[in-house]
Amino acid sequence: MSFRVAPAASVPPASTFQQRAIVIGAGLAGASVAARLAARGWQVELLESLSSPAQGASGNPTGIVLPRPAKDDAQGARFSRAGYLYALRLLAALPGVRWSPCGVMQIARDAAHEALQRSTAEALRLPPDVLQFMERPVAEAHIGQRLAHGGWWFAGGGWVSPASLCAALIAQGNAQHRTHIHLRCNTTVSRIEHDGEHWTAFGAQGEVLAQAPHIVLANAHAANALLPAPLPLTPVRGQISTLPPQMLTGVRHVLCRTGYLTPPESGTPCIGASFGHDDAGLDLRVADHAGNLQRLAELLPDLRHDLDPSRLDGRVGLRTTTIDRLPMAGALPDVHAPLTERPRDPSLARLPRLPGAWGLLGLGARGMVWAPLAAELIASQMHGDPLPVERDLVDAVDPGRFHLRWLRRNS
Ligand SMILES: Cc1cc2nc3c(=O)[nH]c(=O)nc-3n(C[C@H](O)[C@H](O)[C@H](O)COP(=O)(O)OP(=O)(O)OC[C@H]3O[C@@H](n4cnc5c(N)ncnc54)[C@H](O)[C@@H]3O)c2cc1C
Repeated sequence: MSFRVAPAASVPPASTFQQRAIVIGAGLAGASVAARLAARGWQVELLESLSSPAQGASGNPTGIVLPRPAKDDAQGARFSRAGYLYALRLLAALPGVRWSPCGVMQIARDAAHEALQRSTAEALRLPPDVLQFMERPVAEAHIGQRLAHGGWWFAGGGWVSPASLCAALIAQGNAQHRTHIHLRCNTTVSRIEHDGEHWTAFGAQGEVLAQAPHIVLANAHAANALLPAPLPLTPVRGQISTLPPQMLTGVRHVLCRTGYLTPPESGTPCIGASFGHDDAGLDLRVADHAGNLQRLAELLPDLRHDLDPSRLDGRVGLRTTTIDRLPMAGALPDVHAPLTERPRDPSLARLPRLPGAWGLLGLGARGMVWAPLAAELIASQMHGDPLPVERDLVDAVDPGRFHLRWLRRNS
């Protein structure tokens, strides 16, 4: 593996000749980046290990779309709100996506959480179609179910089929008699190399799979196998359980508390999900189904059923998480840049970068919300367009932030 160093400030906007990129991974991250590059006229080689897009973490039948409000409205909350609103607009406009803005009720976990939710909504004073706090009787009347507490009501949120979103994004990149996204499945990238001008992606036998001036790693935790030094990405196992739609008659909205429940209108209602740290096993487990049924009981205390966890079906995926719970979106750092090239007072603007190498990684448990906006951010950076969010949010999701912290601690 060989890499040459380029400071971020020296990366110019791509010329027409340079508007070609390899994107590795065809889940939500890769499909989103490919679509935003294609919208700008770029040619994209989208390489995917598995037999079709969205079979990794993005392969669940449904996922939920809601923001992550916080009373201090710090960067994570602001990026999440921007991502949520961007995702809703995308979903409303993109043909072929299976989704519903049926509304999401996030029921408080306990009385203290309920008080925090109430005061957060009061402090933020967001438009009611973005965020409202509903006291328990109001929430119960709205949902039509007995609930343990009141909660946040996200009127525009809902559920989405991530596989249909990936397919629609790729189709959009190839619509109207143009083919900007060349999807190649059953194609595993084993190694990447930069020769000073181009990136080359190699297969397991050393064969050249693709070559382009730019490369985007959108392959979740597997990105670390391709990088000269690992990024702080951790896989966290998660299992959902699918439920018979008829047992949820009357459930019309997404409900969440310690877990989440998608309504029968989604076709495959799900309850989830387990969290297995330090566990990358992809096997379905009865204990995780039992945990999901417990989450269901906490959401809907009056629901009666005779489901046996050992007979439930479901799906397991790995969330790729970061330590600050924000995604990584932007130019990849060159952590092996020689010390002489490192500035005395390191900053993201002057951090050495791998030339033409980008990452959309660490989407955690919020891929539906993070991926569309983060992809637009990366495509804007690659194309030299104005950025879609404020500079402090760009910095908050910069993949170089962890290396910068390390440099500051050790300089
Ligand atoms: C149980 C569970 C429930 C979830 N619920 C929600 C939810 O309700 N709402 C929400 O917003 N998010 C949810 N998420 C999170 C969301 O699913 C993820 O954030 C998102 O799918 C991640 O997308 P990705 O493209 O980064 O990863 P992936 O979908 O895993 O895509 C990475 C792709 O890269 C491919 N790949 C890897 N290595 C290579 C290689 N070397 N060469 C070629 N291809 C490669 C893989 O095959 C894979 O297809 C959930 C996740 C789980 C596990």
